[in-house]
Amino acid sequence: MQNYIGPQNVLEKRKQYFYPCTSHFYHNPPQLVKGEMQYLYGHDGQRYCDFFAGVSVVASGHCNPEIAERTAEQLKMLQHTCTIYLTQPNVDLAERLAGVLPRGVNRTFFVNSGSEANEGALTLARLHTGRRGFLALEQGLHGRTYLTMSVTGIQMWRTDPQLEHERDVTFIPRPYERGVDTEIAARRSLEALKTVLEEKGEEIAAMIVEPIQGNAGIIVPPEGYFAEVKALLEQYGVLLIADEIQTGFGRTGAMFAMDRLGVVPDIITMAKALGSGIPVAAFATTDEIAASYNRPSASTFGGNPVSSATGLAVLDYIESHHLPARAQQLGAQLLEGLQDIANRYPAIVSEVRGAGLMIGAELCWDDTRRGAELVDDVLEEMKDRGYIIGKNGVDRNVLAFQPPLVITEDDISGMLAALEDTLSKLYF
Ligand code: PMP
Repeated sequence: MQNYIGPQNVLEKRKQYFYPCTSHFYHNPPQLVKGEMQYLYGHDGQRYCDFFAGVSVVASGHCNPEIAERTAEQLKMLQHTCTIYLTQPNVDLAERLAGVLPRGVNRTFFVNSGSEANEGALTLARLHTGRRGFLALEQGLHGRTYLTMSVTGIQMWRTDPQLEHERDVTFIPRPYERGVDTEIAARRSLEALKTVLEEKGEEIAAMIVEPIQGNAGIIVPPEGYFAEVKALLEQYGVLLIADEIQTGFGRTGAMFAMDRLGVVPDIITMAKALGSGIPVAAFATTDEIAASYNRPSASTFGGNPVSSATGLAVLDYIESHHLPARAQQLGAQLLEGLQDIANRYPAIVSEVRGAGLMIGAELCWDDTRRGAELVDDVLEEMKDRGYIIGKNGVDRNVLAFQPPLVITEDDISGMLAALEDTLSKLYF
C-alpha cells in the first residue's frame, strides 16, 4: 500500500492551505485514493459504492479503463495546442456531439467547466438578440462566475451577495412547491413567466433552466412544462438555454433530459459527464445563433486534444454500453425501492422524486432542520457501511442518488437494504 497521510492530515492541510469556505461531507471523512467504475477506495482499503461522489461526472464510471487508455494515448501523443492550430480530436468530438444533440443544434464551442459553458451561452444569447435581460428559475444553480452566479437562484451559491448583474435578471417561480400538486405549481410558474414576458419580453435575451434542478433537490417539472415555456419564449424572441450540465449524457434515461420532453433548446450547455473527470465543457447551438458570436473569443484549454480524446471515448462508451437505457431501467429499480422505504417511514421520508439515475429523497419537509440533521446522520452511517450517498436541496434535507450509470442491480439492492437498516436503527 502506498504511503498515504490519512484523512486527519488531509483535513489539517486543507485547514491550513485552502480557503476557509472549503467544506466537506462527514464527521469522519475517508481519504479517497482510488476509483474503479462504480467503486471508490479509501486509504485503508475500504471500498465504497459511489451513489454520489461523482455527482454525474462519471456517468461512465471512475477510471473506466476504456476511457483512461484513450486519454493516456492522446496524452503521450499530443498534449496541447489551442484552437488557433489545427488538430483532429476536437473536430471529431464536435462532429460526434452534433450527432447526439437535437437536430439543428450542431455547432460547439469548447471550454473547461460548467460555469464557463453557461457564461458563454449567456454571452452568446446577448450577442444574438442584442438584448441584456435574462430569466432564470428560482433555486436554480448555474455556476460560479459573476454572470452565472447572477442567474443562480439558490442563495447559498450566490457567493457575492451584491451582484451587479442582478438588475438584468428576473427569477420565475420554479414549477414545484412542497406538498402542492405539480400541475398546479407548474401552472403558477407558467402564469408568472407569461406576466414577466408581457411586461418586458422585448428586453430579455434568454431564459436559462436546468431540465431537472439538481442542487436544489432533484426537482422534476411535470411533462409538458418546458414545451410550454419554449412556446411562450418563442412568442417574444427569447432564447431557451438548457443547462444540461448535470442531466446530460444519459443520466435521466435519454442522452439529454430535454430529448425526453421533445423540446429543442436554442443553446445547450454541457460539462461534467462529458469528460468523465477530465475537464471538458461546451455550449452548443444552431448555425444561425452561432453566427452571432462574431467577436474574437478563444479558450486556451477548451477543446485541447487530451480533453477531446476523452470526450470521444466517453461518447463511444455511453453509446456502446447503452447507458441512457441502463439509467432508465436501473433508475426505475432505485425509485421503486426508495418509494417502498418512504411508504414504510412516512414520518421521515416525505417525498421521493427523480428521473433515470437522478433521484432525491426529501426528509421531514415539515421540519427541514431536523431533516437536514437526519440527512447528515444517514450519510455518515451509510458511508461506514460502504455507500457514498449525497445531499442537496434548498434546505439540505434531501438524500441525493446520482451514481455512475455503470452501477448494477445488486449494488442498488445492497444500498437499499443498508438504507432501510440505517433508518430503522437510527430512528426506532
Ligand atoms: N450548472 C449546473 C446544473 C451544475 O450542477 C453545476 C455544478 N454543480 C454548474 C452549472 C457549474 O459547473 P462547474 O462547477 O463545472 O463550473
